[in-house]
Amino acid sequence: MKNNHLNIKIAGGWGALISSNKFLLKEGFFKPSKTLLKLNQSKGFDCPGCAWPDPKNKERSIAEFCENGVKAIAFETTKKRASKEFFSKNTVSQLNELDVYDITNLGRLTEPFYYNSKIDKYEAISWDNAFSIVAKHLTNLPKPDDAIFYTSGRTSNEAAFLYQLMGRMIGTNNFPDCSNMCHESSGVGMNESIGIGKGTVSLEDFDKAELIMIFGQNPGTNHPRMLSELQKASKRGARIVSINPLKEAGLVSFIHPQDIPSMLSNKATSISSHYYQVKVGSDMALIQAIIKYILETHPYAIDNDFISANTNGFEEYEETILNKSWSVLLDESSLKMDDIIQISELYISSSKTICCWAMGLTQHQHGVATIQEVINLLLIKGNIGKKGAGACPVRGHSNVQGDRTVGISEAPKEEFLKKIDSVFDFTSPRKHGYDVVHAIKAMHKEKNKVFIGLGGNFADAAPDTKLTYEALKSCALTVHISTHLNKSHLICGKEALILPCLGRTELDIQLGGVQSVTVEDSMSMVHSSKGSNIPISRDIKSEPAIIAGIANATLGNEKVDFLDLISDYNKIRDKIEEVLPSFYSYNKSVLQDDGFELYNSAKNKVWDTPTKKANFLINNTPNLNLEENHLALMTIRSHDQFNTTVYDTNDRYRGIVNKRRVIFLNKNDMEKLSLKDSDIVNIRSYSKDKIKREVFNFEVISYDIRDGCAASYFPETTPLVSIEHYDKKSFTPSYKFIDITIEKV
Ligand code: SF4
Repeated sequence: MKNNHLNIKIAGGWGALISSNKFLLKEGFFKPSKTLLKLNQSKGFDCPGCAWPDPKNKERSIAEFCENGVKAIAFETTKKRASKEFFSKNTVSQLNELDVYDITNLGRLTEPFYYNSKIDKYEAISWDNAFSIVAKHLTNLPKPDDAIFYTSGRTSNEAAFLYQLMGRMIGTNNFPDCSNMCHESSGVGMNESIGIGKGTVSLEDFDKAELIMIFGQNPGTNHPRMLSELQKASKRGARIVSINPLKEAGLVSFIHPQDIPSMLSNKATSISSHYYQVKVGSDMALIQAIIKYILETHPYAIDNDFISANTNGFEEYEETILNKSWSVLLDESSLKMDDIIQISELYISSSKTICCWAMGLTQHQHGVATIQEVINLLLIKGNIGKKGAGACPVRGHSNVQGDRTVGISEAPKEEFLKKIDSVFDFTSPRKHGYDVVHAIKAMHKEKNKVFIGLGGNFADAAPDTKLTYEALKSCALTVHISTHLNKSHLICGKEALILPCLGRTELDIQLGGVQSVTVEDSMSMVHSSKGSNIPISRDIKSEPAIIAGIANATLGNEKVDFLDLISDYNKIRDKIEEVLPSFYSYNKSVLQDDGFELYNSAKNKVWDTPTKKANFLINNTPNLNLEENHLALMTIRSHDQFNTTVYDTNDRYRGIVNKRRVIFLNKNDMEKLSLKDSDIVNIRSYSKDKIKREVFNFEVISYDIRDGCAASYFPETTPLVSIEHYDKKSFTPSYKFIDITIEKV
C-alpha cells in the first residue's frame, strides 16, 4: 500500500520554524534563543526532552535541536513564576479546577512550599524545615516499604544514584519510575531474549541500514531529530516501513527546517516507502506472519550460521510458527496476504535491518511478548550484533535509560546490590519493591505511606486517574521535586511539600564549583550536561542537593556523607564507577566531546542470558476481538505536548487548533456509529474489574486512522485506563488498547 494520505501535513518545514518562533516570542525571545545555542552542544546541556542521541560533535549543527527541543527550552526559561505571592492568591481547590494546559503553564516554582490544609494553600517554607518534615516521616515509618520513591526520566545519573542509595539505606526497593509506564516491556522482553534491556544500534547504523522498520512510533512529535536520520536514509535509497494505525505526518514526509533549498522550494522528502495501518495491538501477529511466510517460502533467506552459533530454541520456535494457521494469523495481523508478502520480501532483500519501536508496542497487556517477536524477527536474519542492523527502542525521556542503569529499579539484580553493600558498607534490601501499578495499589490499600516524586507528574501519568488520586491523597506525606507546578502538586497527601529544583539550562554551583551532570541516551551514549543560565531563584536547589538534604536529615552522615558527595559531583561519579565497572574512568570519559558508550553485550554477540545464547521465545498472540460497536482506544500525545506537559493546545500535524478534548475516528466507524465531525460525545471504557470509567464532552474528529481504532490525548483520557490492565511481566499499563464505547451527548 504506497503512501497515499489524507490531509496529512508535512513534518518540519515552515510550520516548525513558525511554531518554534511563536514559543520563543511567548517567552521574550532573546533569553530562550541564546540558551538554545548551548542545547545538545558538547560543552552545553542536554535537552530535557526525548532521548534521541546527538550526532558526533564534529557533525553537530549550531542549531542541534528540533521544534520540540525549542518548546522544552522556552518552557524551562519561562518568565512565569509559581511564587509565594501566586500561592497566597490561589487555593489548591481553585487550582484543581484548571485544565492540564492551564496548570502546566503557571510557571517555575521559586522556593519550597508546604501545604497548609487549614487554609487549603501552599505556603513558603525554609529548606531546613522542609528537610526535617521529610526526615520526620521517613524515620518514623512503620516499615521501610511504607516509603515510595518515584523517578521521572529527566533525572540525571548523579541524582538517580544518590536517590536509590538513600532509599536502599532506608531499607526499601520501592523505586517505581516512568519507564514502568513506557519502555519497561522493552527492557523485560529483551533481557529474556538477548540478555540486555537496551537497544543494540548506534546512530551510525542508520547510515548503513538497508531497511528501517518503525513499529508503533510517531517520531515526528516524540523524537523529531530522528527524522533527519530517516530523511538521509530515504534519500540514499533505504526502505522505510512504517507500521502504525494512524497516518502520522513525520512518517510520511519531512522538510528539514535547516535545509534552505528545500525550505525555499517547499520540497519535502518522502519518509516511509511503505506504510501499513494495522489495528492497535496486532503487530505481534503481523511479525509472526512475516516470519511464517519467510520460513515457508524463502527458508534459504534465514541466517543459519548466525542461528546455530548464537541462538537457542529456533527449532521449537520454527515448528510453532509453521503450525500456525494462515487464516488466524492474517485475521490477527489485520493486514492482507499481499501486505504480508510485500513486507516479507522487503525484509528478505535487506541484509541490514533496524527495527525501531515505541509506545505503540510497549503499552499493551502483551507488550513483552510483542517485543520478543521483534527480536525473533531480527534473529532469523542475524540482524543483532551487525553494523547497520539491530533493535532500537526509542526512549521518550532524556535519561530514562540512565536512571535504570544507575540503580533506579524495583527489581535490582543481586550483583548490583552486592556492590552497593560493599562500597557503602550496609546491607541493602533484597525484597523487590513496587513498580508504578503496584505502588498505586499499595498506597490505595494501606494508608499513610510517604510518596516522593523526583520530577515527573505521577498523578497524571499513572493509569486509572481516579484511583491514583485517591491513593496519593491517602498518603501521610507527598513530596514533589519539580521545576514547574503540575497536577501532582495539587493531589496532596495529609501533608504535602513542593521542593523546586534547577532546570537543565541552569548553573549548578556547589562547594566544589560549577557542576555538570550526566545522562544516557537511547543508544547507551553517556555524556555530560552543564547548565549556564542564572537560576530563576536563589531558593531553588539542584536535584542532587535536594536528595542529599533529605538523606542527611534522615540518615545523618555516619555511613555516607551525602553533603560531601554533592560538594563535587565527580565524587558521586567515582562511587558510580566503583559500583558499576562499565562506567570505567567515568570522570575522564565524560569530558570527551561525545562522552562515551556503555558496553552492550548483545551488540558484541555476547548473550547474558541463562542459556548464554540469544533465545527464540514463543508467545501466544492475544485475543483482541471486541464486542459490536466497541473500539480500541489508544492514548497519544499532541505535537504541542511532552509527556503530561502541555506546551499549547494545538496539534499542527493532525490539523487540531486550540482544543484537546478530541477523539480521532475512522470515517467508516463514524458512519456505523451515526457520528459526524464535531459531534460531542462521552467515552466509556470496559475492564475486567467491571468498574465504570467515563470521560465527557469530547469532539469527534474524522482522521486517517485504521477502522476499529480510536485515538485521544492523555492525560485527558487516562481516567479510562484500568489499573488491572497491564503486562504481567513488565507491569506496563495498557494505555494503547482500551476497550471503549462512544455515546453522543
Ligand atoms: S529530538 Fe528530542 S532530544 Fe533532540 S532536541 Fe528534539 S526533543 Fe530534544
